[in-house]
Amino acid sequence: MTVHEQSNPFLIVQQQLKEATEKMNLPASVYEVLKYPKRVLTVSIPVKMDDGSMKTFIGYRSQHTDVLGPTKGGIRFHPDVTMDEVKALSMWMTFKCGVVSLPYGGGKGGIICNPKELSKGELERLSRGFAQSISAFIGPDKDIPAPDVYTNAQVMAWMMDEYNKTQGGINNPGVITGKPITLGGSLGRDTATAQGCIYTIREAANKMGIQLDKATAVIQGFGNAGSHAARLLADLGVTIIAVSDSRGAIFNKQGFNVQELMDYKKSNSSVLGFNGSEEITADKILTMACDILVPAALENQITSKNAPDVKAKIVAEAANGPTTPEADKILTQNGVVVIPDILANAGGVVVSYYEWVQNLMGYYWSAQEVAEKLEAQMVTAFDKTWNTREKYGDVDLRTAAYMVSLERITEALRLRGWI
Ligand code: NAD
Repeated sequence: MTVHEQSNPFLIVQQQLKEATEKMNLPASVYEVLKYPKRVLTVSIPVKMDDGSMKTFIGYRSQHTDVLGPTKGGIRFHPDVTMDEVKALSMWMTFKCGVVSLPYGGGKGGIICNPKELSKGELERLSRGFAQSISAFIGPDKDIPAPDVYTNAQVMAWMMDEYNKTQGGINNPGVITGKPITLGGSLGRDTATAQGCIYTIREAANKMGIQLDKATAVIQGFGNAGSHAARLLADLGVTIIAVSDSRGAIFNKQGFNVQELMDYKKSNSSVLGFNGSEEITADKILTMACDILVPAALENQITSKNAPDVKAKIVAEAANGPTTPEADKILTQNGVVVIPDILANAGGVVVSYYEWVQNLMGYYWSAQEVAEKLEAQMVTAFDKTWNTREKYGDVDLRTAAYMVSLERITEALRLRGWI
């Protein structure tokens, strides 16, 4: 692959899929059927801006495969969104849903925009416009969006409201997950991605003989996934020595009080300047000496350039696609255990699934019920992946996670007669 191709997430996921199908000796038809999304929609969304001008935004929704059920996956608002990125993310969602045994295929959406430059009114009109443009293609039994980078429960509420209007005024909360609790959201959804990630770290640490109350961690990205991961790791006794966000990175050898840091970030919109912290360069964060590294920002952060310098024993991919395939090989050669994104951050979609189930039933579970189910489902998925790696011997956890997922997907493809 050329350098450009190495960072194209769509080519990366195709390569990961190919490697796993070959290792499993699956018929070539499996790769052939899964190598492209089933449907990719491009929409333009004209938005009336606060100053009276019109601005048109471009958005995408990719639906990879519905062989296991309706497609499912988040919507991100980011200036760097591309169609290839959205396609790749929808494919990762398929394998993520597969590894945690959900009755879903993968979907993903994105709008090219900088939400930080939009007023609340502009953001609402953009969110509603997008929901309206994709309304014919989504639905509780078709494709169910959720939050992702720079979208949140409020954005989901506007989108659900708009979708329901397009359906003649029905009230169907199951079209979207990650909603506010009052509108049919699930307890535990806001922390689910991080919680699931922490369960996988705990299980890996157990297998590797790492004592968490003596361990250190570094977190890249301090949003929904990263900040809660930091807090939950700290609850297990892990010392969080460095964190970063889009504005920069901070370090404290003694460890941060994560709850105070979260409060600080809320009022200052960045972690920079937090009491007792030392500012460090953002690229240093991934190669710092620590036991656990949690990339929780964007794709392509660990590359062939910095992978040789990664010192963590465990890399838990809270973010989607943070490690390039070349970097992955280097980390594996160096004995770093990478808990792959499709397993490490699957907690979010698991609780999104619980939210959808609760919406369909119209009956809501307690926080404890959600937490117990999530833990059981994540630990089962982790064990299956770890055991698959041991069974094949020469594969890393990422390939093993693909294998777990592909076993189910291949069976579904056969049973439906698609291959
Ligand atoms: P978010 O918008 O809540 O937070 C993103 C964070 O990343 C912010 O703190 C931002 O400042 C930081 N960031 C952006 N660019 C950065 C950079 N170059 N360096 C360091 N930090 C940077 O988003 P999120 O929901 O936490 O998502 C983060 C990652 O986790 C994404 O890859 C997303 O796909 C993945 N993920 C999220 C969920 C979920 O439920 N939220 C589920 C699965 C996967």
